[in-house]
Amino acid sequence: MEYGIALIPGDGIGPEIVAQGKRVLDLAAELSGNVFHYHEVLLGGCSIDAFGVPLTEEAVQTCKESNAVLMGSIGGDAATSPWYRLPPEKRPEAGLLAIRKALNLFANLRPAYLYPELKGACPLKEEIIKDGFDLMMVRELTGGLYFGDRYTKEVDGTVTAVDTLKYTEDEIRRVAVKAFDIAMKRNKHLTLVDKANVLDSSRLWRKVTSQVAEAYPEVAFDTMLVDNCAMQLIRNPGQFDVLLTENMFGDILSDEASMITGSIGMLSSASLNETKFGLYEPSGGSAPDIAGKGIANPIATILSAAMLLRYSLDMDREADAAEEAVRRVLADGFRTGDIMSDGCTRVNTQEMGDLILERMRNAY
Ligand code: NAD
Repeated sequence: MEYGIALIPGDGIGPEIVAQGKRVLDLAAELSGNVFHYHEVLLGGCSIDAFGVPLTEEAVQTCKESNAVLMGSIGGDAATSPWYRLPPEKRPEAGLLAIRKALNLFANLRPAYLYPELKGACPLKEEIIKDGFDLMMVRELTGGLYFGDRYTKEVDGTVTAVDTLKYTEDEIRRVAVKAFDIAMKRNKHLTLVDKANVLDSSRLWRKVTSQVAEAYPEVAFDTMLVDNCAMQLIRNPGQFDVLLTENMFGDILSDEASMITGSIGMLSSASLNETKFGLYEPSGGSAPDIAGKGIANPIATILSAAMLLRYSLDMDREADAAEEAVRRVLADGFRTGDIMSDGCTRVNTQEMGDLILERMRNAY
């Protein structure tokens, strides 16, 4: 098969980490016999420098014509970069919001996985994490409270602010289908997180998600109230497989889930639309403090490339090999500076890429 992949290196460490993610894609292509055609796209500060805007129509078009996008990170140091003297709608981050919107990326996936070798960085007690955890947060990204009507005005002499939490059944159904599809590729357990004891919108989430569940009899489906979920993530994160939730709850819970892995530099993410298309990126930013030094941790980008293989191209075997290679490299004691600990061997970005590639080939 032939696939088009848009690469968005972006700013700061972006080009360094995307280069390593691309090497993993190259190896996946070689191992599978598939052919990848890459198209490089400018987004963020580098696009401002080249074209005066953080995102061009051509860039959007190139992404739309691809099967998937692998992105690094965008932005610079707000205190020193000239990009931040521009009006907000012309700054690097405006490009990121615009591309997500243009590509209709309504499902945001953030895995939280505890590597046994990085347990020391997890803030939870050993007795809680002894069996590890491996969960996937699926957050609705384009609806709900952050996109509803809002205003602030004086009502009966009192300043009153209103935000509107609105969901349609179609918005819920399309992300629920995504989440169940993902559960089918994992441990076949999906938990809907809501506040159905209070909110009408949550009751609609329960109704529609329960309907979708009927088409997935192999997936164990349950529900949990969001306040309980916030506690359970700390008390027993190992109980979860896929967590599905609306935009604001997902915003908060996905950061909580990231935090308990103890290593945000290891976390990949994906944003998907109705088709198999997705944009894949590390959770971290452009790290201007270490840009150009060749020492950035490429693992989150490599794991994002693995997600791209799994969710956009259905190349599960190659994705498994890449993820296994990351586990082995950590077990073998190799670390970039950000996750370095006593007794381990410090490596740079390129060396980490080399070590992962070698193990990916062996794991295949
Ligand atoms: P950051 O994530 O870039 O950096 C925070 C700290 O983590 C820094 O010390 C950095 O060196 C370290 N770090 C981050 N990624 C790393 C990696 N792969 N390897 C090793 N160390 C790593 O966050 P920030 O400093 O708040 O933001 C810097 C810029 O990134 C800002 O312009 C911000 O807007 C942008 N940003 C972009 C995205 C994105 O592109 N999706 C996300 C978050 C922040």
